[in-house]
Amino acid sequence: MSADPGPLALVRADLRGFAGYASARNGDVSGDCWLNANEASSPSPVDRSGQLRRYPQPQSARLRARMADVYGCTPEQVLPGRGSDEGIDLLVRATCRPGADAIVTCPPTFGMYAVSARLHGTRVVEVPLLEDAAAGFACDFEAVAWAAVEQGAKLVFLCSPGNPAGNLLPLEAIDALAGRLEGLALVVVDEAYVEYAGADSAVSLLPRRRNVVVLRTLSKAHALAAARVGCVIADAALVPVLGRCQAPYPLPAASEEVAFAALAANPLRATRAGVEQVLGERERMAAALEGTPGVRKVFPSHANFLLVRFDDAQRAWERLLAAGVVVRDQRAVPGLGDALRISIGLPRQNDRVLRALLPREQAA
Ligand SMILES: *Cc1c(COP(=O)(O)O)cnc(C)c1O
Repeated sequence: MSADPGPLALVRADLRGFAGYASARNGDVSGDCWLNANEASSPSPVDRSGQLRRYPQPQSARLRARMADVYGCTPEQVLPGRGSDEGIDLLVRATCRPGADAIVTCPPTFGMYAVSARLHGTRVVEVPLLEDAAAGFACDFEAVAWAAVEQGAKLVFLCSPGNPAGNLLPLEAIDALAGRLEGLALVVVDEAYVEYAGADSAVSLLPRRRNVVVLRTLSKAHALAAARVGCVIADAALVPVLGRCQAPYPLPAASEEVAFAALAANPLRATRAGVEQVLGERERMAAALEGTPGVRKVFPSHANFLLVRFDDAQRAWERLLAAGVVVRDQRAVPGLGDALRISIGLPRQNDRVLRALLPREQAA
């Protein structure tokens, strides 16, 4: 048999035959008297459902099916897990040899790509986003392709929309990059904020680009950050490999339940309405901040936050804190020494931001 290994060729050679942990819930035995997992024989007094004494299914078939439906892929292409953070970690562990190999990131970007790589002893190659005075940040795809090939990277992490940059990456450019890196690296597109972008998902590239991987999460637009649910969407051959790198029971039953419920039609309508409100507020806030003295630049944003440069970021930070408003300080990030990232909140919370930043005489 010489079936095209596709992205399987990018899995660490020492893990290709790795079976992972065989949990009591795996395997195809059946019965009605389950005594194989050393579970307690009666429920905890604090467990009102009476169901928590049992280990959950290692992977929930109904959640995979629902995610596949919502995200536009097949259930075999979905791996639910503990947020995108777990997905990032699984990808690094499955493809990069500890103490060797490399990933490419495009800073300023989400910190977890580099954290996972570093914990795994894997090199991080940085290809900074380009900053255009008017258009904001953009990815230097040419430099990314070159760096990935040159440095032997196994993973390229793209964040679209970018955090904290706010920029959206063109799908055609991601498509072309994946084409150039076929057989060399996985192109991972982190779409934590794509619901706010009104853009097509990179999932649409999967049928022709087997080395594209997409990360989705319920932590942002779906308002379920504490449930810790997200998923990796990847080539169907890669999904079981990533699954074998996961903890034996990745999702607590309560998280599985809430995630399954959140992806039904009615909650999805509420999610879309929430997104619409954020988009209106994002536009209002961007315009108001542009007109605020001391604001140097408001970056275009396709997400639920605004990245803002200030003439005196320390002063802005202090004024916001004095008003009880906590935003994200970006000043330690190279190139963002004058910037704060402000999440879009409820209208009255956003008003507090604006009031805090107005000069004293105007605020009075
Ligand atoms: C918030 C965020 C996530 C979400 O991570 P979870 O583990 O799913 O909560 C992923 N990627 C980026 C870029 C983010 O900003």
